[in-house]
Amino acid sequence: MKLTDSAQAAADSAHLQPIPPPVDRGALRLTRSYEALLRVLFGLTPLVGIVYLQLFQSPTLTFEHHLAHELAIAAATGVSAFVCWVTWRCYLSSGEPFLRWLTLGFLGFTLIYAPHGLLTRLADHNLSLFLNFGPSSRLVMVACLLYGLLQYGKPAERPAEIQASGFWRRWIAVFVLIDLLVIATAMLPASAGQWIRLPQEAAALALALAAIALMLWRRIDSPLMTIYTIALAFFAQSSLAFFLARPWNHQWWMAHTVFAAGFFVLSFGVTRAFHTTRAFSLVYGQEEMIRRLEEANAQLRRLAATDSLTGASNRRHFMERLAIEWERARREGIPLSLLAIDLDHFKDVNDEHGHQAGDEVLRRFVAEARTVLRPADLLGRTGGEEFAVLLPDSDAERATAVAERLRARMADTVQKVRTEKPLRVTASIGVASFGPDGESGDKVFRAADKRLYKAKNQGRNRVVGPDGPA
Ligand code: GH3
Ligand code: MG
Ligand code: MG
Repeated sequence: MKLTDSAQAAADSAHLQPIPPPVDRGALRLTRSYEALLRVLFGLTPLVGIVYLQLFQSPTLTFEHHLAHELAIAAATGVSAFVCWVTWRCYLSSGEPFLRWLTLGFLGFTLIYAPHGLLTRLADHNLSLFLNFGPSSRLVMVACLLYGLLQYGKPAERPAEIQASGFWRRWIAVFVLIDLLVIATAMLPASAGQWIRLPQEAAALALALAAIALMLWRRIDSPLMTIYTIALAFFAQSSLAFFLARPWNHQWWMAHTVFAAGFFVLSFGVTRAFHTTRAFSLVYGQEEMIRRLEEANAQLRRLAATDSLTGASNRRHFMERLAIEWERARREGIPLSLLAIDLDHFKDVNDEHGHQAGDEVLRRFVAEARTVLRPADLLGRTGGEEFAVLLPDSDAERATAVAERLRARMADTVQKVRTEKPLRVTASIGVASFGPDGESGDKVFRAADKRLYKAKNQGRNRVVGPDGPA
């Protein structure tokens, strides 16, 4: 699609639109507080359902549906295995230690939770054998999430560490051992089951709360870690619901749902990381992102406008500013002058002292010129050893005086180069002004250049203004 000129101009300017200035502090504080409150409220939403069921529903009401449970757990372990794989891919890419433990948490959950679904049909014969994989899997997962949090912000691991498989093999063995332990404890008398299940549920709740407290204490404030905290809050509430529930009653199903919601939230964080930096700590919030973009843009603008050797403006930027300053001078009726500068016999400097010494002289020239110029004046490197100075608010007389100071400063500067041979570099300068020498940047530039070559012809190391040599 082709845009009309004005539409294109509008699109271009929209593109360059600066970020609006910050809103006032009061409104900012208010909206930030509201956002913080929203996080808390959203994180505690499941509590409403849990409390509601606890207060208004008989705990004896059950929904014992084996197939529904099998399907739900099959879906949960499938999703968990998938998220484990995505997290592991993130870890392989970024080496973030936090992700090692997040992967391990998902892995442990998958391996310990799967039998809970597979053994659903045993619910009638041995309740513990069916039930106790749940609290163990949640406890293992939350423990990994807490430990991972302690690793958050640590430097990336080395490639050899990332590739090593021993860690994973050892932990898979531990998780299988936990499965066997759950089976072994299920052989105890049925009444012992409660004493195995409830402390684990309580421990998972305590660890999730400890992790949330750690998040708040460390003041980790990034979008993915906010998601992490909300997931931890859901896991804590899920453990609370399991603690209050009886197998198959509505609180029990609610507990499953709350855990699943926490899982979905956390896995959304994982896919966000996967699609961006593959490291939780490097995914920034929108405000931080805009600030960094602004900084990067400013840096790019600076670089694009600067000559890398000397730090003076480059030719393109100088010409742009020339057009802007000329327009301003014309509009406001103020004088504007231009100096065209060429270092004398610069080829000899290179030949005698080497190219590096020549570079050093160019840098020195810019540094010396800056001591003579005002902040509003613009110094540009327009060619190899050619420079130009734009002098806003200066007529030819003042510009010629500045040029003379510049020339004198350069002539006095004795350059010590690597050969320790003293080196004197001089400059020839032509001066021209807008108005008397023309009404366009081009014309004035040409007039200044002409006078510069006059200065060369007259023996160099001199300034030539409109009235001849200064
Ligand atoms: P004149 O007084 O007539 O201006 O003599 P000149 O030797 O300065 O002039 P000429 O144009 O013959 O030579 C310019 C020299 O500037 C040649 C070139 O190698 C050198 N030069 C241009 N750019 C750079 C640079 O970035 N670094 C260095 N070291 N030398 C440069
Ligand atoms: Mg030259
Ligand atoms: Mg020269």
